[in-house]
Parts: sequence; C-alpha cells; structure tokens
Amino acid sequence: MTDQKITPVSHAKMPLFLGIDVGGTGIKIGLTDDQGATLDFIAIETLEPQGPEDAMRRVNIACEEILNRCGLSKKQVLRAGLGTPGSQDIRKGLLLQPPNHPHWHHFPIVKCLEDALGMPVSYANDANAAAFGEFWVGTGKVHDSMVLLTLGTGVGGGVIIDNELIVGQNSFGGECGHMIIDPSPNARLCAWGGGRGHLEAYASASGVTARARDELRAGAQSILASDIEKITAKKIYEAAEQGDAWSLSFIEQTGEYLAIGITSMVHMVDPGLVVLGGAMNFGGPNSKTGQRFLESVRNGFRERTFQNVKAGTTIEFASLGADAGYIGAAGIARSDYHKAL
Ligand SMILES: [Zn+2]
Repeated sequence: MTDQKITPVSHAKMPLFLGIDVGGTGIKIGLTDDQGATLDFIAIETLEPQGPEDAMRRVNIACEEILNRCGLSKKQVLRAGLGTPGSQDIRKGLLLQPPNHPHWHHFPIVKCLEDALGMPVSYANDANAAAFGEFWVGTGKVHDSMVLLTLGTGVGGGVIIDNELIVGQNSFGGECGHMIIDPSPNARLCAWGGGRGHLEAYASASGVTARARDELRAGAQSILASDIEKITAKKIYEAAEQGDAWSLSFIEQTGEYLAIGITSMVHMVDPGLVVLGGAMNFGGPNSKTGQRFLESVRNGFRERTFQNVKAGTTIEFASLGADAGYIGAAGIARSDYHKAL
C-alpha cells in the first residue's frame, strides 16, 4: 500500500518515471510523473532466497502490470530508478554485501534490471533514495539542500546539496549513522563492523533498546522495569505518553545524541534543513511525546551551533513515511534524465 494520493494519468505531467525500492521483505514499485505525483503503485515480496535475478524478473512483471492498468506502454516511461540496501558500488551498478540479502552478494543488479525492463536505470542506496524522495516532494520540497536521518533498526541518511545527492567515492555518502558522537574507549559498539561511539549505537531502534536495557538493569525507576527483556522503542514511547518520567527523559536523551551528530553534519555542509525520517520517531508529529523528542533535538542543536546557523536551520519530521524510497528512486531517475538532456 502507498499512502500517497493516486493521480489519474490524464492529470499527470509528462514525462513519467518508475521508482523501485528494494527492502528485506518487500519491494515497492511506483509510477510517478515529472512532479513526483504517484500514478500507480504495487508492492511485491522480495523472496530473498530466490536471488536478485528472479526478483528483477518479477519487478518487470509488476511494472508491466502498472503500465497496463494506466493504459500506458513502456515507451512512455523514460527511465527507472532503483534503491537497494548497501553495501554497493553505485557507479558500477553493483550490489556488494547487503547484510540482510545474503543470496544477493556481488551482483550486477542495474544491468539485470535494465535488461529486464528494457530502459535505463539509475541506482541509489535505499536511504539516499528516501532522502531524495523527501527532498523532491516531501518535507524538503521548497529547499535546495537537505540532510535526512532515517531512524529505523539502524540510522541511515542522505545528503543533498544544491539539488545534488552526495554519493561519495565509496558509495558511502550520507551514512550519518556511522558518525562518531562518543570518542571514549568504552563508547557503545555499532552493530555493523563493531566501530565504537557511532550515532547508530545510540539513536537507532536497536541502539535505543540496548541503552534502555542497560539503564533499567542499573536500577532506573520506570513502569518498564518489570519486563526489561521485552523493551522496544515503541514501548518506551507508550510509557512516556502515559506519564512515565524515566521514559520521557530517556527519549530526550536520545534527542540529545541526535543533536550532537546533527550539529557536526550542519557544520560540515550547512543544509538549512534537517529532516528526521524512519519508523522510530516516538509517535512523530501527531503525538505529545514525538513533539518533545523533536524539541530535544532542536534544543540540543541550538545549544551547540552559531547564532546565524541556528537562525537559518530548520529541523523537522519527514512527511512521506515508507513511500519516500520509491518516490526518491523515481526522482533520481528524473534528475539523471534531465541532466542528460
Ligand atoms: Zn557504525
């Protein structure tokens, strides 16, 4: 399912682009117009053990079904965009070793999808694609630059400066989850590669869970202390909504860690807009706790930056939810298409 309003083809602004967002369990496929409006959408299963070739074959079938339903042919779509989890070599169109796709390692996925679809394919890291989606039609819509942090199982992200996505020399651009926010020798360990003190070890859903368990085992007073093993970020949010003081202060401490990372990113690239996306948002914009969380990030940033940077930087929640990936993949295809003109 997509949460986007479906625009009829008769109202679409040509040309059209396909966006494909590969996840661990599902693949989202959308057809968008030149302004990012969704014309149609299909989700299929990833079926990871069947390998990437089978998945790309099924992606093509789904794309044909979308075009059929819209009364269009492939000739009317100029380009497709593909987002996959890293690690990857974006310029060569290669998957390297995505940890949740063990049967997909070292695979030329762009060539495979181009052959299946019969059209050129642009390629991006999935978090970078989500950033580009938020930038194109979401919270970043009226901006020229933006940084997105995606708070999920890990912390992903994307950096867009003057309408350009930063891919980087090693396809590692925008990997803000691995920013070092704690240099001490006993800093928390990152799940990927075991680096110490990375933002992800403090502000991802898994980092939050691990920190919460440590604090509760050490005797923190909370309604969650009775079932430490079953703790999740969502339970901490629910407890905070019920007035649990430890949960609220823990969430604000999480915002503080994010603020440290965000301050470093802003001082590096000065984007003017920082967007928090992903499912771990402690209720997000429509809850009291989510607003307190966002305020703690903003306050932590304000305390650490300069007067003029503070005045010219906005920190907001994302607005496209899980649709950002396929929309952004289509947006990157669009951007590459217009660059080639
Ligand atoms: Zn890391």
